[in-house]
Amino acid sequence: MRVAILSDIHSNLEALESVLEDIAGQGVDDLLCLGDLVGYGANPNECVQRIRGLISHVVAGNHDCAAVGTSDTSYFNPHAKRAVTWTARNLSADHARYISTLPYVKRVEHILLVHASPSEPAAWNYLLSPQMARAEFQAFSESICFIGHSHQPVFFSINGAPRSLKGDRLSCDPEERYIVNVGSVGQPRDGDPRSCYAIYDDDQRTVQLRRVAYDIRSAQRKILQAGLPPVLAARLKRGE
Ligand code: ZN
Repeated sequence: MRVAILSDIHSNLEALESVLEDIAGQGVDDLLCLGDLVGYGANPNECVQRIRGLISHVVAGNHDCAAVGTSDTSYFNPHAKRAVTWTARNLSADHARYISTLPYVKRVEHILLVHASPSEPAAWNYLLSPQMARAEFQAFSESICFIGHSHQPVFFSINGAPRSLKGDRLSCDPEERYIVNVGSVGQPRDGDPRSCYAIYDDDQRTVQLRRVAYDIRSAQRKILQAGLPPVLAARLKRGE
């Protein structure tokens, strides 16, 4: 099985289309999505439409839940809050209904999918260090779990002590278990403005992070035209 795993699209249609184009050349059997389809960007309906039509394994992210009222926004910064309010107003009733049906956690064969953290999927905790990963590894039994949420790609592994590994390629050791953050399609925050997603090949036991350039200026223009906070356009260029 060879699968593409996408997360944190955030209503950025330009980024999503470019990533899907890249995936088309990768010979994958399936696509999986880790949530945050909406929030921040100007094309929530178009992104949900595209994902609904293409991906059957999708989990909910905090921005998805906030936009349909199933998660509160008290911890959101003011820009994120404005974007959620705008999204809630602009999302079609049918797409909102679809988002409300998304589960927090999904198992696909021997893979676990969750937006933020396996131990408390609806608490939206950020899993940023090997120390934080240690407790998370106890919350699931699969050999590999894919997450998003921080918009920062990273590999965590455990075999005794938890470790974090940088780089764009992981060769899985059968003795170890892994948590992989696949980065963000629509709003990367690791200093590289290109979209990020992962390809997992369970025959080769490899995970590869791919970066894809997209039309950032077009996405920015739409954010400004929609009256969304200008900082949400500016950060795309900086990848933060
Ligand atoms: Zn996100």
